[in-house]
Amino acid sequence: MGSSKQPLHIGILSSPGLGHIIPVVTLANRLATFHNVSVTVFVITSGSSLAETEILKSANKSKMIDVVEIPGVDISNLIDSNTKIVTQLCILIRETLHVVKSVISAMKHLLDALIVDIFTTEALPIAKEFELPNYVYIPTNAWFTAMTVYCPFLDKEIEGQYVDQKEPLKIPGCKPVRPEDVNDPMLDRNEQDYREYLKVHGIGFCLSDGILMNTWEDAETGSLKALRENDILKAIVKSPVYPVGPLIRHDQQIIDGRSGDDDGNNSVLNWLDKQIPNSVLYISFGSGGTLSSKQLTELAFGLELSHQKFIWVVRPPSEVGADKSFFTTGNRGDNTPEYLPEGFLTRTKDFGLVIQMWTDQTRILSHPSVGGFLTHCGWNSSIESITNGLPMIAWPLYAEQRQNATMLTEELRVAVRPKVLPTKKVVEREEIEQLVRMVMQYKDGKELKENVKKLKMSAEKALSVGGSSHDSMCQVLKDIEKRSIH
Ligand code: UDP
Repeated sequence: MGSSKQPLHIGILSSPGLGHIIPVVTLANRLATFHNVSVTVFVITSGSSLAETEILKSANKSKMIDVVEIPGVDISNLIDSNTKIVTQLCILIRETLHVVKSVISAMKHLLDALIVDIFTTEALPIAKEFELPNYVYIPTNAWFTAMTVYCPFLDKEIEGQYVDQKEPLKIPGCKPVRPEDVNDPMLDRNEQDYREYLKVHGIGFCLSDGILMNTWEDAETGSLKALRENDILKAIVKSPVYPVGPLIRHDQQIIDGRSGDDDGNNSVLNWLDKQIPNSVLYISFGSGGTLSSKQLTELAFGLELSHQKFIWVVRPPSEVGADKSFFTTGNRGDNTPEYLPEGFLTRTKDFGLVIQMWTDQTRILSHPSVGGFLTHCGWNSSIESITNGLPMIAWPLYAEQRQNATMLTEELRVAVRPKVLPTKKVVEREEIEQLVRMVMQYKDGKELKENVKKLKMSAEKALSVGGSSHDSMCQVLKDIEKRSIH
């Protein structure tokens, strides 16, 4: 954009929750830092956590970014204890839209465009009412986007539950999706969550002037081509798709009140400094992933058997669901947490480091001693691994992670995965030992390493000036400039 002109002013609307605020703030930072855009981040809040407040405070430090918090209205009379999370979120946002509208209409510094996130697509009519160019930002990949926009059609084509189908689900122009890989809200078609998913995501994604995605051309040539050129998908999506990623957090941020700059993290980095390059496997299941008690024990023994250097961010087990983490404080004599095998810390002290609950993942992944990542395949973790050139063990747990795991192993070939779905069956220690060796040892992991290095380079190229993702973002901004009425 020309430097003499007033910068464009873009609003980005975020739904509540850390998982939604972080990608929005990351996009805002990219627009402000690399494209000289002034951004107002509107965040619908719902009893914000310390972590959310800290993330927003850090975004507000940039001269180019303003944060406006919009407290969500009280919806207690519209939900009950059985209302699932996706439905709750959609109702909260729906009921708060009139406040969003009055906040936008009262703005002194007028907007040139509005970008909504994946849960706030019902705000698109507000943008249209104010004649603002409008976009949806999908903080994940094109294959997931294609399946989601096609889901309202699958809904008509397929009878019974998706997970019970004998054949993979056909998505025009794209690799089919295996029934067991579908996104969580598609697991039970009788649930309100599924109907909200169809409406807010499936239909909502297609109602804007363009779809921005956190992916890049070389990573997803096939799915992007299908979204743009396949007659059926093109007729559904209608507007252009813009891969603008991979956008990842670079700054040091405090999450859940735990700072990456504390002593804990420094000691992790000091430990890493003493290891040889590419020798350490990092293990983490994202911001909330948990394993069953039996699985946790098998993973511990698998790591022990492998004798591979490791850093493991461990959480207490949960038998309820793979995204239900809770906190216990007890430990065994040698400080081994009570939910790990007795003596684990003593037996692994020469080659492993156990961190409870949380660490600064991006810092660890960028350390030269780290050589692989056992991940739950959240999209952020996946691209953080790729952009650091690290091959993965794919261990999906919930949300769209099963589909991501399939893409990482079968399409991009940068990961290996257990033979069984970890949420369905326990992965046994001998298999874990074998997977660790496959990823970490040069001979076995050679191909994975070469593939991920190539992908890392393509990601860097895509984001550099003149690269495909940088150009995509410039194209969006050019269109906004052309159409802006201010
Ligand atoms: N993360 C972190 N420390 C941890 C666990 C996770 O910093 O101990 C960060 C990680 O770097 C990533 C995000 O939390 O940016 C998790 O996002 P992802 O999409 O991978 O998974 P989700 O948590 O949404 O399931």
